[in-house]
Amino acid sequence: MEQRRIDVQRIRDGLLAEKERTQAEIERLREGLVYDLEISPEEGDPEVWEREKTIALVRNMEYKLQEIERALRLTERGDYGLCERCGQAIDPARLDAMPTATLCLKCKQELERMSSRISREK
Ligand SMILES: [Zn+2]
Repeated sequence: MEQRRIDVQRIRDGLLAEKERTQAEIERLREGLVYDLEISPEEGDPEVWEREKTIALVRNMEYKLQEIERALRLTERGDYGLCERCGQAIDPARLDAMPTATLCLKCKQELERMSSRISREK
């Protein structure tokens, strides 16, 4: 246990705070969307574009929320800080910068290479 210098309690507190912030942000954006719906289509394209942008933003936030929840589950199980793919300890500096990271840098880069290959094929 000595070599794991990750302060899980501190990270957990940070994740919980981030989760609340993200949930509040999603709620705020969703309220904006309901309001947007009342705008008549004649208002023109900028409104539609704004709406699309907000929807994309909400989707990003929801994805972020999932990542936060996944990281929180790992802190509960005591697996936090280990790569989900290869099981190696994730660099504590990386976790400090990105507490929701569940992959080590090497695995993340490999997965990104694979997914960018897939999206290029579409
Ligand atoms: Zn890994």
